[in-house]
Amino acid sequence: MAQLLLQNIQKSFGSFQALKDVSLDIASGEFICLLGGSGCGKTTLLRIIAGLEEQTSGRMRLDGDDLSAVDCHKRNVGMVFQSLALFPHLNVGQNIAYGLEVRGVDKTERLDRARELLDVVGLTGMFDRPVSALSGGQRQRVAIARALAIEPTLFLMDEPFSALDAGLREHLQIEVKKLQRKLGVTTIFVTHDQNEAMSIADRIVILNEGRIEQAGTPTEVYANPQTRFVADFMGTNNIFSPEFAKDGAVMLDGVDLGRSTGQIAGLTGKHTIAVRPEYVRLNAVSKDETGLVGTVDFVRLLGASIETELSVGDRTFVHTMVSDRAPEFKVGDRAEIRFDLDHAWVIPS
Ligand code: ATP
Repeated sequence: MAQLLLQNIQKSFGSFQALKDVSLDIASGEFICLLGGSGCGKTTLLRIIAGLEEQTSGRMRLDGDDLSAVDCHKRNVGMVFQSLALFPHLNVGQNIAYGLEVRGVDKTERLDRARELLDVVGLTGMFDRPVSALSGGQRQRVAIARALAIEPTLFLMDEPFSALDAGLREHLQIEVKKLQRKLGVTTIFVTHDQNEAMSIADRIVILNEGRIEQAGTPTEVYANPQTRFVADFMGTNNIFSPEFAKDGAVMLDGVDLGRSTGQIAGLTGKHTIAVRPEYVRLNAVSKDETGLVGTVDFVRLLGASIETELSVGDRTFVHTMVSDRAPEFKVGDRAEIRFDLDHAWVIPS
């Protein structure tokens, strides 16, 4: 059991407030991703949980007990950092067993445990290797094994894969997720990469300027961002503020975009709404040009999809389609932009 409760955590560095009233209830065995841009407070929150930093105010409870009252080295936290610090004078096995040695575990038991963990992270047979003879991915595996050797109550990772190439990163994300599920250890993983968070988290917590903007499952934050910041961060792209006419017509700059039977049906007045790029369609411009006409600024291939960016005055809209067909529009073309308004939602102001 390791349920972690954060209550109104604040952290100031002099007059600068790095964390503003962060509250979060993390279930035992849950995999949480703290997601946000540079400087939003992710690492600070992780360091406070680990006991490397003290909060200015607020409380932390681990299974009901006050975590702040427990010394840093007694918190039984396993940590993996981006710039990992393996001990260069120890070999792989000794690195993994180090935390157990500090805890007074006898030699046979700690070396057995180190070998067991080497198998778990896919480095069987590398016990005696010097750490200088490992690749970046292998080093991160050793760091993970070392953090897990102490059977941590909390497993904390701070951008552990950001220095690795994309293929290896994806591979290790999947491995870590499987390992975490198997061990059932409560995990907090810091990242600024929404795709990484989407692929591994049970729940994503999006931080902005020291505050939680939204917390939810990957599907919830992807499909229904509740703030403009989250929508932008999750790549929603098409956010605009049309007028809703009494007859249900959604009007933007005098253009009738159609009606919705979805979440935005029944609105009146002006509201900010969002539509994901996969719910945008591009058509040839009609003769009378009554639709919303944009100019293609950019077309790019993103593996399985093609993204087209269009401008209408000073607004930008984004359309995506699967890349099994050639794009119909190229840079400089004009196209009519249609939104599937049944999939639009309101961004609360
Ligand atoms: P990144 O993704 O760039 O690592 P982050 O979200 O992890 O960013 P933090 O490292 O938590 O951000 O920092 C949050 C803010 O607090 C930043 O503006 C940072 O400059 C500031 N900060 C962090 N540690 C200190 C410190 N010891 N003294 C003063 N300011 C600090």
